[in-house]
Amino acid sequence: FILLDIFISLLFSLTLHFSRCYIASLSTMNALAATNRNFQRAARILGLDFKLEKSLLIPFREIKVECTIPKDDGSLVSYVGFRIQHDNARGPMKGGIRYHPEVDPDEVNALAQLMTWKTAVANIPYGGAKGGIGCNPRDLSINELERLTRVFTQKIHDLIGVQRDVPAPDMGTNSQTMAWILDEYSKFHGHSPAVVTGKPIALGGSLGREAATGLGVIFATEALFAEYGKSIAGHTFVIQGFGNVGTWAAKSIYERGGKVIALSDISGAIKNPNGIDIPALIKHRDNNGTLKDFSGADAMDPNELLVHECDVLMPCALGGVLNKDNAADVKAKFIIEAANHPTDPDADEILSKKGVIILPDIYANAGGVTVSYFEWVQNIQGFMWDEEKVNGELKKYMTNAFQDIKKMCKTHNCDLRMGAFSLGLNRVAHATLLRGWEA
Ligand code: GLU
Repeated sequence: FILLDIFISLLFSLTLHFSRCYIASLSTMNALAATNRNFQRAARILGLDFKLEKSLLIPFREIKVECTIPKDDGSLVSYVGFRIQHDNARGPMKGGIRYHPEVDPDEVNALAQLMTWKTAVANIPYGGAKGGIGCNPRDLSINELERLTRVFTQKIHDLIGVQRDVPAPDMGTNSQTMAWILDEYSKFHGHSPAVVTGKPIALGGSLGREAATGLGVIFATEALFAEYGKSIAGHTFVIQGFGNVGTWAAKSIYERGGKVIALSDISGAIKNPNGIDIPALIKHRDNNGTLKDFSGADAMDPNELLVHECDVLMPCALGGVLNKDNAADVKAKFIIEAANHPTDPDADEILSKKGVIILPDIYANAGGVTVSYFEWVQNIQGFMWDEEKVNGELKKYMTNAFQDIKKMCKTHNCDLRMGAFSLGLNRVAHATLLRGWEA
């Protein structure tokens, strides 16, 4: 009886773990459940074999490490770091490392999986991975951040590598973080600039990488708009988030004659129906740290931002911001997913019924990883491209990917999200089958 009892409880906890991690749950709809649901819908569209589907869904490797560092005051503090390596059928695994208080294994798992489909949609020779440390980088001094990054690198250095897994910046990390990873990694393996991308230019970073995600979002928007005979000029945009992606996207919209009429960051939201002067706002933010008290716009309720009247809504911050609580009130005609998984599947359904056109994250924000690929190529070649070449290639990749997605939409009579997911899945499935399994 005791044995039976142990067996049943083991079975129960295994089922629970399996359903938490790998099966889409309709009620909780966390990031992983939402991503898995999209994956499973695309797998159905492609008629993927169940065994292949399961093997594509389960991550290749999940790394969880303890990172203890001395704080500046001498006390010790411990953090948990993750690197989830999702798939490597098409090449070395690739994806950012994020420092954020909400980093948790499910979230990192979802983001790693999204990287696999994203690199496949962009048609660059990588798989997918993502990492993160559950910390608030704003609460850490620069020295503490350096120590934390070095300790994390020490714990994962033998599992990453130029042909294995290539990290990059994400939320809460930047080119300086990559410089520390490069330095720490090189102590073990010799100088290896291609082990990370998004590096400072002086250490082998690529021209254009800093702007790449935001600029890629604009190239994606232009590719979509071309279908409707529209251009960015004269249209109104609402942007959530004024970090790296939001800033470069807003700047590019402004330069093309589009009007950013509302914008937010962690300090709040601002609006100006005549269009915000983005260069002046960037200057204000660089001097003051946030958008707050910018004289060229009025403060607005940040909860109103996503449902503000506009042509195009661009969520450029966290995931899950469009959900069943606010989707029905969205007034935008187009949503460009510059953030990763900003729209949860419930919202997706509501928005689709309303006729809102959504350009999905795994395509819309692929510009960052695409220029990461160019950086990696330049490092391996030992040759530096000029910015014109980088941006020209980026535009080519983004435009081609849109055409490939459109073909999938036509073949399978589906929306852009399923077009992008089925394109990514199909490429990864094809590579997996070609490589084969050991019998
Ligand atoms: N963190 C970015 C993303 O989510 C870039 C990843 C990379 O360049 O590897 O796509």
